[in-house]
Amino acid sequence: MTYKTKRCEVCGQYYAPNSPTQKYCMECRVAGRKAQNAVYRRTHKVEIAASRAAYRRAERNKAAADVIIRKAESDRATAAGKKAVEDYKQEEYKRRMARNADDWFGRFLMVFCWVAAVAILGVGVWAMVVNGVSK
Ligand SMILES: [Zn+2]
Repeated sequence: MTYKTKRCEVCGQYYAPNSPTQKYCMECRVAGRKAQNAVYRRTHKVEIAASRAAYRRAERNKAAADVIIRKAESDRATAAGKKAVEDYKQEEYKRRMARNADDWFGRFLMVFCWVAAVAILGVGVWAMVVNGVSK
């Protein structure tokens, strides 16, 4: 699309614009925009200050929201961590109980050893009583 030839507001040359709002030729484009921005900054101090204040306010609100969100996340993480530890302890307890229930041979061995020890002692005491303690 072509637009009708315009005259540059900086250097006065005629040029073919790429858009209907273009004010400067390609050579003066950067300088022209800088000059335009400088004029805008001079003539819109209140608007610029308000916009910056609004930006800072938004940043502050965002930071406050971030703090709240991080706190909530950390609380959730802590709660989840505590629950995981509790669950692990429960599971470990159940596993230990199951292991003990399964270890019938260990129990049998323990009972057998106790019975054997008591029997040996009993036989020893009985022998001493029957034969006399002194020689
Ligand atoms: Zn120009």
